[in-house]
Amino acid sequence: MIQLYQPLNFLGMIYREIKQAIVDIEAMFGVLARDPEIEDAPDAPALNVSGGTVRFEDVRFSYDPDREILKGVSFEVPAGRTVAIVGASGAGKSTISRLMFRFYDVKGGRITIDGQDIRQVTQDSLRAAIGMVPQDTVLFNDTIAYNIRYGRAGASDAEVEEAARLAQIDGFIRATPAGYATEVGERGLKLSGGEKQRVAIARTILKAPPILVLDEATSALDSHTEREIQDALDGVSRGRTTLVIAHRLSTVINADEILVLSQGQVAERGTHADLLAKGGLYAALWQRQREADDARRKLLAASDSP
Ligand code: ADP
Ligand code: MG
Repeated sequence: MIQLYQPLNFLGMIYREIKQAIVDIEAMFGVLARDPEIEDAPDAPALNVSGGTVRFEDVRFSYDPDREILKGVSFEVPAGRTVAIVGASGAGKSTISRLMFRFYDVKGGRITIDGQDIRQVTQDSLRAAIGMVPQDTVLFNDTIAYNIRYGRAGASDAEVEEAARLAQIDGFIRATPAGYATEVGERGLKLSGGEKQRVAIARTILKAPPILVLDEATSALDSHTEREIQDALDGVSRGRTTLVIAHRLSTVINADEILVLSQGQVAERGTHADLLAKGGLYAALWQRQREADDARRKLLAASDSP
């Protein structure tokens, strides 16, 4: 709350970006350090996806017993629709995506997909049904083709290249020394954040899951790259149940419903127009983003002039 209303200044903006980067690194380890005690229920059936409706019913969650992160969160993403989650960093947005994957179990309430409690189906079938484009993609130390084909092991070269084309990364790949056989990752070619994200999008296009979870990047991408990534994401989410953790106004404007997460609860919900008219947290959030964008533009303009 306090953070949301902080008066904007440029140092504040940089501070928030550094803080977000730290949160993202923590989030990455959070996923790696997923709860090892999660097991399939005996004789658990596979998840049966019909439309792909996702429901959170009064979900409660904490990593540490003395600090509750989600305090009764309820929402539905109807089959084929898009719901956006916004909120300050640390609000619990990425936690929601981790719970959907069952990296952790809820402490109260339940999560269902087409009416089935996700704790009652196999983890393999659950994870096969969900495609995740994370905030920070970690690539394998292998070729670009391998990294994309990870989305569906049996995919042909033609399918891998088609996915890359749809994710708007094909041109970049063809310009690398060995094309699709170029080694990437720690020991290979280093990709930028935007390029890695497009590899993750290509992977997800190949997987073609009924349900998508997109954790958008906050990093200052140039507007051309941002446009390309947005187009690629729009294409992949069409007709799929999509939960998007949104940092960009463009995604949010088109969402069927927006949830504002604050203090572990859904503080506001509605369409972009509803929430702007309300003049509450959401309106303040976007006012602040617009000011930050203006400040960044001015800074870029100043650094361009001699
Ligand atoms: P957001 O994505 O909205 O920025 P997160 O869901 O990543 O927020 O995190 C919500 C809160 O939970 C933060 O305060 C974060 O520090 C904390 N948190 C995240 N992962 C862990 C973890 N593995 N162990 C303990 N606390 C965590
Ligand atoms: Mg996050």
